[in-house]
Amino acid sequence: MKKRIGVTALLVCLVVAAIRVPRVVQYDVMNRSVQKARYCICIDSGHGGNDPGKIGVAGTKEKEVNLAIALKLKKSLEKQNIRVVMTRTDDRNLADANATNEKTSDMKNRVAKMDSEQPDAVISIHQNSYTDSSAKGAQVFYYSESKEGKVLAEILQKSLIEHADPENHRMAKANTSYYILKNTAAPTVIVECGFLSNPEEETLLNTAQYQDKLVDALQKGICEYLEN
Ligand SMILES: [Zn+2]
Repeated sequence: MKKRIGVTALLVCLVVAAIRVPRVVQYDVMNRSVQKARYCICIDSGHGGNDPGKIGVAGTKEKEVNLAIALKLKKSLEKQNIRVVMTRTDDRNLADANATNEKTSDMKNRVAKMDSEQPDAVISIHQNSYTDSSAKGAQVFYYSESKEGKVLAEILQKSLIEHADPENHRMAKANTSYYILKNTAAPTVIVECGFLSNPEEETLLNTAQYQDKLVDALQKGICEYLEN
């Protein structure tokens, strides 16, 4: 009888150990990866390659300013322990090599890339242009049907005014038709950082100092959005 109890007790111990050990290991691994990167942000640098985007009054190509700001923002978010996915990191767009319509192919592949890592939000960097050269100031666009997109856009607009350009009176704006706003799964915003059609703002957008201000404002806004 004693021997039987002893064997049963041993079996119980083995079963408990078998259940417990993997759980502890699993929890630890999960905990570490959660700490490493709790959040993921996709940064989209608009245009690229054959598609220069808007051209400034002094010849600035939108695609180049977009990429400079996007790469700086990547660094800044990674410093905050945020995992970053980029749609592009060099002067290429995302169109298939043999695409009959390069723009359509680029947009389709861009959205697929944006969705690929299921990010918490997508930040698409662009520069604006307008027929009236006095138009200036950053403006953030969101999809009219996205509640989260609206929240993110309003936080970013406020942060851009506070940290980059206190004279900017623009407000976050709803949009019903932009392809990437409509077709991504995550809350997505388009940040038009400024107007290349405005000579002063075009000059400013080319300086490292103003780009750093914009990036600082976007990073602070993104962190505020993720933490609330
Ligand atoms: Zn653009």
